Amino acid sequence: MRIDVVTIFPEMFEAPLSLSLLGRAIDNGLLDVDVTNLRDFALDRHGTVDDAPFGGGPGMVMRCEPMFAAIESLRDRNSLERVILMSPRGRRLDQEIVSELAAQPDLVLVCPRYEGVDERVSRALCTDEISIGDYVLSGGELPALVVIDAISRMIPGIVGDWESVTTDSFYTGILGPPQYTRPAVFRDLEVPAVLREGNHAAIARWRRKEALRITRERRPDLLEFCSDDDRALLAEIEAESRGVASGINKENKT
Ligand code: SAH
Repeated sequence: MRIDVVTIFPEMFEAPLSLSLLGRAIDNGLLDVDVTNLRDFALDRHGTVDDAPFGGGPGMVMRCEPMFAAIESLRDRNSLERVILMSPRGRRLDQEIVSELAAQPDLVLVCPRYEGVDERVSRALCTDEISIGDYVLSGGELPALVVIDAISRMIPGIVGDWESVTTDSFYTGILGPPQYTRPAVFRDLEVPAVLREGNHAAIARWRRKEALRITRERRPDLLEFCSDDDRALLAEIEAESRGVASGINKENKT
């Protein structure tokens, strides 16, 4: 997959794109990310890409000419079918959007600064606007990196163990289960016995149940489309939280 980024701060992409999973994915050719410096398309030799807003008001607005020129310059290597403006008023990023974007052959991520970009860029050039949450950052670079990182996990081969993706929070539709590693006992804190006993079916059931328990506590809105198996586990959790001991519950069933 190919991703083109347009920014006035290409340096912000250097470390994140060279380290860890993303760095390896790019080295292995699974992901191709090119960062275009908007200043190369500036209006003058001082590198001007912004101007005061029409109608007055604070701050500066990014002008359309450099943005149009920068994005159109990508045409020989990018289909420009999905040109995404990072914007707090965009669709809020979630796993569904990430999966949809990961299925595209290529993307352009546009990273404004200042008060944002001239509206004509978003109306006439961008196909999507994406927000990473209801708060305001000082530029689109960190949001674009969030999008790139999330997408990269969906591209087969980038995360070494695909099971680690398919058991992630949200990928499964719910939050992820708790994880533990050695030591088995730290101070008086013990790792649940089931995880140490090697019964894979029991472990899978425990993980699903604990994932449901956390989701029920923190994000009950995600439980809407549960399977029948999940509903049975949720009923157990419900009973436990009402103070019915799970041991008694199990005995009653058998
Ligand atoms: N005045 C604008 C905010 C400008 S912040 C407003 O009120 O909407 C400067 C740039 O940072 C934005 O144009 C956008 O590209 C980026 N940005 C800020 N917060 C963001 C968010 N939550 N998601 C995605 N991009 C964001």
